[in-house]
Amino acid sequence: MTDQLLNERDLDFLLFDVLKADSLCERKAFSDHNRESLTAALQTAAGIAREYLLPHNRLLDEDEPQFDGKTVSIRPEVKQAMTAIADAGFLAGRESQEEGGIALPETVMLACMAYFMAANPSTSGYPFLTMAAARLLKNFGSDSLKEHFLPHMQSGRFSGTMALTEPQAGSSLADITTKATPADDGTYRIKGHKIYISGGDHELTDNIVHMVLAKIEGAPPGVKGISLFVVPKFLLQEDGSLGERNDVALAGLFHKLGYRGTTSTALNFGEKGCCVGYLIGEPHQGLKYMFQMMNEARLGVGLGAASIGYRGYMLSLDYAKGRPQGRPAASRDPLAAPVNIIEHADVRRMLLAQKAYCEGALALTLYGGRLVDDISSAPQAEAEEAQTLLDLLTPIMKAWPSEYGVKANDLAIQVYGGAGYTREYPVEQCWRDNRLNPIHEGTNGIQALDLLGRKVWQEKGRGLTILHKRIQNTLSSAPPELEVEVKKLDALIKQVAAATASIGAAMQQAGPDVALSNAASYLHLVGHTTVAWLWLMQAAEAQHLLKTTDASNEEAVSFYSGKLQACRFFYRHELPLVQRDVDLLMSGDTTTMDMQANWF
Ligand SMILES: Cc1cc2nc3c(=O)[nH]c(=O)nc-3n(C[C@H](O)[C@H](O)[C@H](O)COP(=O)(O)OP(=O)(O)OC[C@H]3O[C@@H](n4cnc5c(N)ncnc54)[C@H](O)[C@@H]3O)c2cc1C
Repeated sequence: MTDQLLNERDLDFLLFDVLKADSLCERKAFSDHNRESLTAALQTAAGIAREYLLPHNRLLDEDEPQFDGKTVSIRPEVKQAMTAIADAGFLAGRESQEEGGIALPETVMLACMAYFMAANPSTSGYPFLTMAAARLLKNFGSDSLKEHFLPHMQSGRFSGTMALTEPQAGSSLADITTKATPADDGTYRIKGHKIYISGGDHELTDNIVHMVLAKIEGAPPGVKGISLFVVPKFLLQEDGSLGERNDVALAGLFHKLGYRGTTSTALNFGEKGCCVGYLIGEPHQGLKYMFQMMNEARLGVGLGAASIGYRGYMLSLDYAKGRPQGRPAASRDPLAAPVNIIEHADVRRMLLAQKAYCEGALALTLYGGRLVDDISSAPQAEAEEAQTLLDLLTPIMKAWPSEYGVKANDLAIQVYGGAGYTREYPVEQCWRDNRLNPIHEGTNGIQALDLLGRKVWQEKGRGLTILHKRIQNTLSSAPPELEVEVKKLDALIKQVAAATASIGAAMQQAGPDVALSNAASYLHLVGHTTVAWLWLMQAAEAQHLLKTTDASNEEAVSFYSGKLQACRFFYRHELPLVQRDVDLLMSGDTTTMDMQANWF
């Protein structure tokens, strides 16, 4: 079994040739870095992924965390991996050096995280949740909260969680019922039940810092009444040392299809009436704060899905190169040696689809990282434009890779044939792990509603205007060899504009329920358009580099040729599929709305 997690050559191409990540080092925020230091960070991440994460990926899947009624036990390799990630500085990878970090651009940070996710998504879950919780605290917490918790989260001594979901409130967070009652000392008493909380209990760290959504008594109904609290597993003493156990109890662990190594917990807050919570920021602003973290988390979910998809692609590619079976259709000699299955066009179709999906999804999410960097470091106008575009694309960056990452893993199983369906081979685990991604951090259905119900119309549609402008720039600078793809994408963006206008009109005339009933098709249409754009960007760069590469450099020629072929595949085999979406959207199809529950 290959230990290739991602194609390092591809990552290098995406980061430095396509996204020009090294140009970020010219900006003050990243001036401590240069191409060499960014590459060193990537190599460190790849090394940790191979040495500390990959070896126990399968073991953890087979030997998942256990709860004996008192404590949760997890294989020791998980802690060793978390320590390696923390010791290399990745937990504070995004923070400036003054803040104890290594100030990596998000574009590169995401690429590092892609290695971890490809190697072992379950173990990666603990540090990733901790990073996200720490950033939430850093951005919105009081100085005192930051002082007490942040350094320990950034060093890996404490871990973090996101505690939003309740049994009756998953997609609809407006319906949470967890209560927060003010206490005399300025803290709050939290009472309620949360489910599916990842990393919600374990013995991997000295403390667990839960970011909990709750409603302060008397708060306005719905999302406007949600506040955010820090609820530690262990309270801290005045001097910062660990104090008594807080009133947060593990009710039990869920047993999942995949991602088995990340504990999935049902937590009871305040069963004894003394669960202490500390308000973050202002009352009733919790969802706004949480959304900042969720947007980062959504990009992270898309990246994870792309990475697990990519790992399955690497595995099935390796398998296809070494599995002899069958002969070319034209061969009539039954005694001729069988060929490796990669020689069959249908197997190449499945590999090309995986390549197009996974490299496309990785490009999409790394582009998201580039937008995050532009928001934090570009001149104001460019930063504002990046923010508007990131807001628009966040649901796509979550949903497209998670839909197509799973499809890629499905194809990886198919490439392996019967072996792919057995637990003796690794690709079924990729599929099981990846199957979570369309569900959590807002289901893909909710992402579609977010895109079509909110994001597209924000700032009078400015996000889509920016996207069109950027696509046009790529079209006008593409080399003549890509003329066919340029024409197709040019036609498609006009269809996106027409479909959007048509839905806008339906919104006015028929109301949001009808107008949004084909939101999934809209997400698919804009998702495919965006990925087609990123493929054109890659192909243009590959074409340019191919012209300037010495023909004797076989490795480089093959790499660029592969990029061009994957782009062609996406435009010929995938892009025509969105015509169905265009037709449904333009005709205002109401088949799903008109179906009645009692007709099923
Ligand atoms: C392994 C795992 C880890 C998780 N980790 C965490 C975590 O760390 N923290 C946390 O807080 N939560 C976590 N979750 C919860 C996760 O975010 C929710 O499961 C998810 O948001 C969906 O909520 P639900 O399960 O209640 O499904 P529901 O909300 O009941 O949705 C069921 C179906 O109905 C659809 N649906 C619901 N409402 C609408 C609507 N208005 N319009 C159209 N369709 C709709 C959904 O798209 C979905 O297909 C995790 C879940 C899992 C499985």
